[in-house]
Amino acid sequence: MRNKEVANKLYELASLAELAGENPFKINAYIEAARRIENLPIPIEELAKEGKLTEIKGVGSGIAKKIKQFLETGTIEKLEEFKKKVPPSLLELEKIPGIGPKAALSLYKHLGIKTVEELKEAAEKGKIRDLPGFGPKKEENILKALQGMKKKEEKRVSIGLALPLAEFIKDEIKKKAPVDKIEICGSIRRMKETIGDIDILVTSRESEKVMEVFSNLPVVKEVLVRGETKTSVITEEDIQVDVRVVEPEFFGAAIQYFTGSKQHNVKLRELAIKKGLKINEYGIFKGEKRMGGEKEEDVYSLLGLPWIPPEMREDRGEIEEAIRGELPKLIDYKDIKGDTHVHTEYSDGVDSIEKMAEEAIKMGYEYIVISDHAESLGVASGMSIKKFKKQKKEIDKLNEKFGDKFRIFFSVELNILSDGSVDFPEEELDIFDFCIAGIHSGFNQSMEKITNRIKRAMGIKKVKIIAHPTGRIIGERGEYKVDIEEIFKEAKNTGVFLEINATPSRLDLSDLNVMHAKSLYGLKFTIGTDAHAAVSLRDMRYGIGVARRGWLTKEDIINTLPLKKFEKIMKKS
Ligand SMILES: [Zn+2]
Ligand SMILES: [Zn+2]
Repeated sequence: MRNKEVANKLYELASLAELAGENPFKINAYIEAARRIENLPIPIEELAKEGKLTEIKGVGSGIAKKIKQFLETGTIEKLEEFKKKVPPSLLELEKIPGIGPKAALSLYKHLGIKTVEELKEAAEKGKIRDLPGFGPKKEENILKALQGMKKKEEKRVSIGLALPLAEFIKDEIKKKAPVDKIEICGSIRRMKETIGDIDILVTSRESEKVMEVFSNLPVVKEVLVRGETKTSVITEEDIQVDVRVVEPEFFGAAIQYFTGSKQHNVKLRELAIKKGLKINEYGIFKGEKRMGGEKEEDVYSLLGLPWIPPEMREDRGEIEEAIRGELPKLIDYKDIKGDTHVHTEYSDGVDSIEKMAEEAIKMGYEYIVISDHAESLGVASGMSIKKFKKQKKEIDKLNEKFGDKFRIFFSVELNILSDGSVDFPEEELDIFDFCIAGIHSGFNQSMEKITNRIKRAMGIKKVKIIAHPTGRIIGERGEYKVDIEEIFKEAKNTGVFLEINATPSRLDLSDLNVMHAKSLYGLKFTIGTDAHAAVSLRDMRYGIGVARRGWLTKEDIINTLPLKKFEKIMKKS
């Protein structure tokens, strides 16, 4: 499936078009099309083959032509045209918080700045403050942002990209080769937020066939090594994938070994040595004698331990807890009863309320919380109270239709403004079942200011959830400065819940945040996908992954509660 690739190209086209001063209408059309394609549940190359590209909402004949061009030639003429007008490296500048397309273009035109390096140099020399629209404060912020931007660690990709890719490869191998067992290992199995490479283990009588199928998959760009027991490839997204075929009697030991983490396995090996045993990828041994290793449980049980869920294997005390027999019973991927953060086409989502609800019903949910943006967020088509009232009517109607079976809660994602107030005065919030509030602007304020903004929002009677509490976007933007400890305390005092945002690029709060907040303050959380399309409701699993990595149980997550209990708890104030 090349959807993500095509969407990224269209985003690039939009960004370059913007830099080149193209008509905003066209730019928006590219972005809209990219968003739809990103969320498309079927492979775009199939639609292209059947000549059905224009059936995608938002894709007209012009964009369809560009998509075809890209699928066939790897590039788009228009894009190359733009690249001649403006250096594509300016797009890198736009990734710096506080620099939009206008600023990037102005830096280029006036100072000839094309790269992040050149920008840094100019800022350090104090050259930027004199540009129209910049000033010393902005220059300082740019410098700060540059310092804050982590050096890109050796290529790691979001789990949101890696897991579906790994599952695709696994399914294709299963379909086309004789396979007995197959498991995705490594950091994906541990649900880590970013992934270095993908490891897949297989047992099969015909390893030759497995490797042939694997190395010829459409996602493979380059085969690095092709052997009988191990084949490594690089995919179109530049991710390395290793497939190993192992003997059935080693399978358990091998998946344990290749799941990691390294630190967890080091601890485990130390424990084994103390017991006179030895563990490796082939099994668990006493002297020369192999004691087990066909099942992963063998490795743990021979050490006197219960099986430890992969998400906990980070050497954060899980082995000690297992020895004491005190491993928590983690929340299960099936425990969620509803999604607490969902957008629709009323603001910047792409699907209708009904479509979102129907997808939720398909997932076995009992409820969903519709929380579109309020008006101060212009870029996300934020809504006026009048429009919310209209939305409420539609929600009431749908709720009538669904009856006792399913419930749509009527909420809003309020913006916490720079002084801590929100879009609407308190008395107008009464139309909502409850409100969600989050920071979407003013990221550069001091820690004290940002902390107080959130605290003030938590004091608003109708606010029951704080969305994405630290504001980070993985690989793009660090957390804003916030005294998270203070926020935890205030959450405890006010009974407001902090969100685990399940969007794979956010995962905010993080695993360590929730672990800390639970053990020190006994906090409970909501997990919301922040879905902007029906298919993204399926991102819930990434949020549950965070919860499991943070050792949370079902009881720690509010939206594992059945409908009536959830309703009661969200009303209480
Ligand atoms: Zn938000
Ligand atoms: Zn949202």
